[in-house]
Amino acid sequence: MNTPKVPLPFSIRTYSIKALQKLNTDVYGAVNARDFEISDMACRLMRYNSRVSLWVRKQETDMLGYHLCVMLSWICGLANRLHIDISQALMDSCGADACFADAPFSELQIAFSARHPATQLPSAALCLSEKTQAIASALEYYRTTHAEEHFRDATHRIAQTVEALCVVSSKLGVHLSEELQRHFSYGCSKCRSVPCLCGFRADKVH
Ligand SMILES: [Zn+2]
Repeated sequence: MNTPKVPLPFSIRTYSIKALQKLNTDVYGAVNARDFEISDMACRLMRYNSRVSLWVRKQETDMLGYHLCVMLSWICGLANRLHIDISQALMDSCGADACFADAPFSELQIAFSARHPATQLPSAALCLSEKTQAIASALEYYRTTHAEEHFRDATHRIAQTVEALCVVSSKLGVHLSEELQRHFSYGCSKCRSVPCLCGFRADKVH
């Protein structure tokens, strides 16, 4: 017999980036710690980024909202694993106001998107890919050297990726907070549990 699904007590569409990081810990913290190396998590993030690039290139929008918010989920998971406070990184690296630390993520999306009114979608999507790959690159350097500068660079790239994700989403008319509400309001987007019971192990991104 299936266990009845109980909705989360709060609406994700009002969650701040801090609250989204906390939610990600509650849902995926255990499974990520058990099953994924940091490089695996960076790879998952790039996989979903490649899907976003594919759909932008093909001008097919059906899955874009899902893949964009799964990207944000993996960014939160990666930041949690590295003990990076994304809201602080956004202030340090992207000049985000301190008030956005506790503001709904939708306000952050609006603020970042307003900075790039003339940027066209293909350019925004390329920027997102560049920043996402730079996370993996910085983490690879850090793993090899343990040099603080590479960890700072990874933190910087995570913040830049969140900003680029907001810009791409807005160019597509995707409201990330609404997509998160749609796909994560019961916990894991696949098994709809808190904590995740499926392990998000599926090798194939779909
Ligand atoms: Zn799951």
